[in-house]
Amino acid sequence: MKPDSPFVSDLRPSPNHNARRGEGIPNILLLHYTGMGTGAGALSWLCDPASEVSCHYLVHEDGRIVQLVPEDRRAWHAGQGSWRGRGDVNSRSIGIEIVNLGHGNGYPDFPDEQIAAVIALAGDIVKRRSIPAEFVLAHSDIAPARKSDPGEKFPWDALHRAGIGHYVTPSPRRGGRYFGLGDAGQPVEAYQALLAAYGYEVPQDGGFDEATRLATIAFQRHFRPACVDGIADASTIETLHRLLRTLPRSPFRREEAAAGAAV
Ligand SMILES: [Zn+2]
Repeated sequence: MKPDSPFVSDLRPSPNHNARRGEGIPNILLLHYTGMGTGAGALSWLCDPASEVSCHYLVHEDGRIVQLVPEDRRAWHAGQGSWRGRGDVNSRSIGIEIVNLGHGNGYPDFPDEQIAAVIALAGDIVKRRSIPAEFVLAHSDIAPARKSDPGEKFPWDALHRAGIGHYVTPSPRRGGRYFGLGDAGQPVEAYQALLAAYGYEVPQDGGFDEATRLATIAFQRHFRPACVDGIADASTIETLHRLLRTLPRSPFRREEAAAGAAV
C-alpha cells in the first residue's frame, strides 16, 4: 500500500474494506471523531477484523496523519445513513477519523496542530478528487439519529477559510418565531423541505417529530454551532436559507424564495 496523499506520515493497513459499489468514485468527504480514549486505541480498533469498521485516514492530536485504507477502496466508516436521498455513503465517500474523546467523555477542543493537519489533508483530497464544497460533511449530517461527530467544536469556519467545505457565517440569534418538537403545519413542512433540499433525510409531512429535531441538531452542530438545541429558530432557518442560496448548482434555487416566504 502506498500513501494517496503527500501529507500521510504513517501507513497502518486495515483489512476492513471492500470494492466500492455503483460508480465507484468518491464525491463525499466525511469527517468523524473517534470518540475513544487514545489515538493508538482507535487505530487498533479500526484495524481489527472483528470491529468491521475502518476509515481512510486518522489524524492524531499532534497532527500526525495515518492512512489505513487506499482511497480507491470502500472503507467502513459511515454506516447506515443518507445524503441527498442516496444511501451507501461508504461507496461514495472518503472518511477521515479525527482523534477526540467525543461528547461522551468531556469533548475536549481540537488542538491547533490537529486542525492544521485536517485542513492540509482535506484540502489535498477535495482538490485531487474534485469533491464539491457542499459534499464535505459531518458524520452527523448523514446519520442525525445515530451520530454527533465531529460535533459543534469542529471548526468548519476555519476549513471554509482554507477553501474546504460550504459555510456561511451563521445568522445572529434573536427573537422571532420558531418551531420545535410537537409543532405541525405548513411552515414546518416548508422548513423540512429546506433541510431536505440541502441534503438531510427528514420527513416531509409538516410534523416536527423526533427525526426533524435530530436533523435540526445535526444542522446546528455543523452550521450554527453557538447553540445546539434542536429548535428551528430564526437564526437556524435563515442560515439554512443562505446556504441554499449560495449553493452553486442547486435546482432548489428558484423555489427557495417561495418556500422562504412561507417560513
Ligand atoms: Zn463517525
